[in-house]
Amino acid sequence: MAYDVLVLGAGLAGLCAARDLAAGGADVVVLEARSRVGGRVEQVRLEDGRLVQLGGEVVGNAHTAYQALVAELGLTLVPSYVAEPGELTYALHDGLHVGDSPAFFEPADHASQAAVEAAFTALCDTVDPADPWSHPSAAVLDRASVGDWLRLVGATPAVRRAIEAAQLGLSAGSSERTSMLSLLRKCAVTTTRGLYDYDEWENLRVAEGSATVALRLAAELGDRVRLGVPVRGVKVAAAGCAVTLDSGEVVHAAAVVSALPVGPLRDVAVEGVSDARLESLHRQRHALAAKFVAAYDRPFWRDRGQNGLTESEGVLGSSWPQTDDGVLSCLVPPERIAAYLSTDPRFRREEALTELASWFGPPALEPVATFERLWGTDPWTQGYVTQWQPGDVLRVGPLHGTHEPPFYVCGSDQWVAGYMEGAVRTGRGAASEALARG
Ligand SMILES: Cc1cc2nc3c(=O)[nH]c(=O)nc-3n(C[C@H](O)[C@H](O)[C@H](O)COP(=O)(O)OP(=O)(O)OC[C@H]3O[C@@H](n4cnc5c(N)ncnc54)[C@H](O)[C@@H]3O)c2cc1C
Repeated sequence: MAYDVLVLGAGLAGLCAARDLAAGGADVVVLEARSRVGGRVEQVRLEDGRLVQLGGEVVGNAHTAYQALVAELGLTLVPSYVAEPGELTYALHDGLHVGDSPAFFEPADHASQAAVEAAFTALCDTVDPADPWSHPSAAVLDRASVGDWLRLVGATPAVRRAIEAAQLGLSAGSSERTSMLSLLRKCAVTTTRGLYDYDEWENLRVAEGSATVALRLAAELGDRVRLGVPVRGVKVAAAGCAVTLDSGEVVHAAAVVSALPVGPLRDVAVEGVSDARLESLHRQRHALAAKFVAAYDRPFWRDRGQNGLTESEGVLGSSWPQTDDGVLSCLVPPERIAAYLSTDPRFRREEALTELASWFGPPALEPVATFERLWGTDPWTQGYVTQWQPGDVLRVGPLHGTHEPPFYVCGSDQWVAGYMEGAVRTGRGAASEALARG
């Protein structure tokens, strides 16, 4: 039997693509390697009923496709941790500081930060996120790291340190290993066009749980989603496509939508598409990261005037409260994942809690539950979010996010800036292109 479309991967992108394809009348099946849907959005329930997010959690103002989907599914967006009372914690090599402005800033650093912000916004205004390659200085800006640019515009060492802490707090790559053009492209999708800002990028979350979005999509698709069927090969041809599963089974369809992250896609033998397309896909890479979550019986950090939000120079690069009921998320950034993974797994929990206690005090040592998710080494993710090293925007090139019918690509990696928004936006985009071509 041949389907109209096979969708590879049941993350947000694949589920969104399949839902729209089905709604458009296509006979579609989703092939998913794991025994669950959702990919990088995943949640578990504590014994006391609280939901804990182990993957993607929050969205921002520019995440309009995600916001529209949430409304369609009858779910609710509420303010995220940005509404949490208290102040930010800086956990620096030379001490802890609670306060919304970095402890190491002198008046000259505040002036430098304002100048850097203004210069960044002015440059950001010149970049078209859909076509950064057409920028007159695309090659120069792509070759330069964010660190290079900061030095060029005279950012003080303290400003560079604060920006590095923020980058690693997000578990993005170091400023020294991030293409300036990629950061400009990412920030050009916002209305403020400034450097990354929590209030702009992370101010909303789904009240019913971020992974509930994927579960609702999957419920609508019913038995159109096949779980536990890793894809190993794809043959693409105008006369029909064939997808080979791990089991040896071959499934046929008129078209294929790949919603696989770029890491696992490298392990799939794809034939029948141009070398240029494959190179563009294979040039993409991820920041490798891990997530550590500690659930407490209450948000005890408030007792010390802290809001649970941390930017850290330690092994854990950041923390933030998932909700207002005591669940704390932490990310291990790519630059520190080696230090984390080299620790015997039996001691990682203890070491992570000790680090949290150095930020928030002894109650941090007594969670009701902890969770660790090694996304960077997970075979079906092989990363965390897209990372663009200097030169990568030009290496990946303008084929990024485009299709080669009957082979369509989607997934957060195929949008300018990753995120759940990228998954929803490109998943729905791929479905609409495939439907338009009949
Ligand atoms: C810890 C963490 C925190 C994050 N925080 C945020 C956040 O706060 N806000 C935000 O917007 N984004 C966040 N993100 C990013 C966001 O979760 C992802 O960008 C988005 O969910 C990716 O969706 P996707 O469908 O493109 O890919 P995925 O969710 O990775 O889905 C791909 C699917 O393909 C499957 N697959 C892989 N290989 C194969 C194969 N060979 N055969 C069949 N199936 C296969 C996988 O199992 C998976 O289900 C976070 C991610 C992580 C890991």
